[in-house]
Amino acid sequence: MTQDQQQLPAQEILSVKEFFEKVPPGRNVSVKDLSGGNLARREVGSYGELFRFNLPVLELHCNTASCDGIRFFEPAHTSNIGLGARREFVTFVCRNCKETHKTYALRCSLNQDGVTGELFKFGEDPPFGPPIPARVITLIGPERGYFIKGYKAENQGLGIAAYAYYRRVVENQKNRIFDEIIRVSEKIGAPKEVLDDLNAAKEETQFSKAIGVIKHGIPQTLLVNGHNPLTLLHSALSEGLHAQTDEQCLELATSIRVVLTDLAERLGNALREHAELNTAVSRLLKAKSPIAVEPSPSG
Ligand SMILES: [Zn+2]
Repeated sequence: MTQDQQQLPAQEILSVKEFFEKVPPGRNVSVKDLSGGNLARREVGSYGELFRFNLPVLELHCNTASCDGIRFFEPAHTSNIGLGARREFVTFVCRNCKETHKTYALRCSLNQDGVTGELFKFGEDPPFGPPIPARVITLIGPERGYFIKGYKAENQGLGIAAYAYYRRVVENQKNRIFDEIIRVSEKIGAPKEVLDDLNAAKEETQFSKAIGVIKHGIPQTLLVNGHNPLTLLHSALSEGLHAQTDEQCLELATSIRVVLTDLAERLGNALREHAELNTAVSRLLKAKSPIAVEPSPSG
């Protein structure tokens, strides 16, 4: 048994597909389908028995312009493994664009049954986890380095670290986040009292105090599942101070990232939809038949 196996005993039993897609580097995992068993067994000279490594089709994020989403990735080659531990590099290619490659460095340990075994991920390139959307990077601006560190920590399951990085980002970039919300709210024609609240909130130095100033909410289109994202961020930031465990911090860190990402997407979409709506309305108003745009009596 090698040193890292002793430090990280395998606990979960996953499929090989789940291991590649969902397990961050540095974790040892038991898998139920490492090889096809007897059917794949071959005698190969002095290397002893070899088994076909069961490489599945993966579903991963592909970031080329033509894909930009979850796509199927096929193994770029076949691979054989023997009984006992060995180190392997495995590469997958996006089935759609054929451009994006994903490479994993692994240790494979096939059990005597020729089917089950253990997998350990040394690393992967591009790095583990979906890419951070460009809009959230733009929203947090100068603090993007800490956000990326928070994301790495989150993907490694380091809850307290991830939380601390995200908290710092939100606290330090409070004004930037408010500026963007105010800018978008103005462009989409939010009521004056909403804008006044947001401007007053921005003047507060602490995020928690800023939230208390907002009495008239924010524009409907920026709500996350019907909730004010600023209130959601605030509750995640204040709960974290009382969180007892790494797991609780990890959940809160994930919540902060998800809400911040969703807010960034909504800010971008709100401007685009507003521009499209304006174009559509002015096109209809210019049309020769004004009847088409008269509101119905019921609406
Ligand atoms: Zn692709």
